[in-house]
Amino acid sequence: MREQRLLALVVWAATLTMTCTMAAPVNPTNTAFIEDPLFLEHDTGPGFPESADRLRWLSAHLDAVPLGVKLTRMAPDPDIDPRPWIAKVHDADYIAALRAACEDEKEFMADSPDSPISRRSYDAAVQAVGAVLTAVDAVVTGRARNAFAAVRPPGHHAMPDGAKGFCLFGNAAIAARYAQEKHGIKRVMIIDWDVHHGDGTQEIFYDDPTVLFFSTHQYPFYPGPSGAAENTGAGDGQGFNLNVPLAAGSGDLAVLEAFDTQLAEAFRRFRPELVIISAGFDAHGADPLGQLGWSSEVYGKLTHKVRALAREQGHERIVSVLEGGYSKEAMTRGVAAHLEALADVTPPAHPPANAARAGGD
Ligand SMILES: [Zn+2]
Repeated sequence: MREQRLLALVVWAATLTMTCTMAAPVNPTNTAFIEDPLFLEHDTGPGFPESADRLRWLSAHLDAVPLGVKLTRMAPDPDIDPRPWIAKVHDADYIAALRAACEDEKEFMADSPDSPISRRSYDAAVQAVGAVLTAVDAVVTGRARNAFAAVRPPGHHAMPDGAKGFCLFGNAAIAARYAQEKHGIKRVMIIDWDVHHGDGTQEIFYDDPTVLFFSTHQYPFYPGPSGAAENTGAGDGQGFNLNVPLAAGSGDLAVLEAFDTQLAEAFRRFRPELVIISAGFDAHGADPLGQLGWSSEVYGKLTHKVRALAREQGHERIVSVLEGGYSKEAMTRGVAAHLEALADVTPPAHPPANAARAGGD
């Protein structure tokens, strides 16, 4: 009798454990892909590399070439008002000035000549933030396993007080703040593999130990001198800013090695509850701006490594946000490799921690 009662207790406990494990239902085949035609209306003028064609190439490619994995293509959630969240990262004066400049149909903000704008740019930039917040909601609540926000304008150079380097609002940074304040996520890691250093994101979180910023980038390069390995954070944020400068021409192997060593170590130390990827595709060999010479396939490999590291932490909460990428090949084949790895239902396992130094795959 006693044994029967003990057995019942064990079965009950096992059932409870299973129930708790299943409490956050996640569709294992669901990668959310968030897009909006408004992003095409951010007009940067003829011949400018950051153009609406980037998203047209991607959209046409996804329509024409089935990925072999399932994406849920969706629009930003109209019930989210991004504006109060933008104001948590950017100065009110800058936000108002950008809005006014767009209403006045200015071609540039006076102090941001490298960030062209047009009449609809403010609206597109607000909606881009809406898209990344939609992605955060979908991933954190388990309605999607992970998400990719196909947005423009990009965001990782945007400073609290101004536009910079094609970027108007810090999409990834705002997503991190939103995840923390709306959803109670404590530790967010932002992984930035754009060819350029994400100096805006670094600036926003430089003294913040709750957001770990990890960036691989060509160095020296725009926006140098930002991006040096010695810049590791300040105050309470000391040690929570990790720059991995890469030499021009260093190719796939250098970044794969950086992910297997420096990223893996930081990931296991920081134990992020949410990962945001600042996914630029301008380190691709076909890119007209960058010279790192990465293949299309490396974007899938990097994605699998991030997924495996997240899985070690017991989750796969990954929100990926489009940054740069100015060639048709990178915006189609590179992004497709990233999406296929995000949506792969049977990703390869990451090597155990003690084998991490064995090198890339
Ligand atoms: Zn870039």
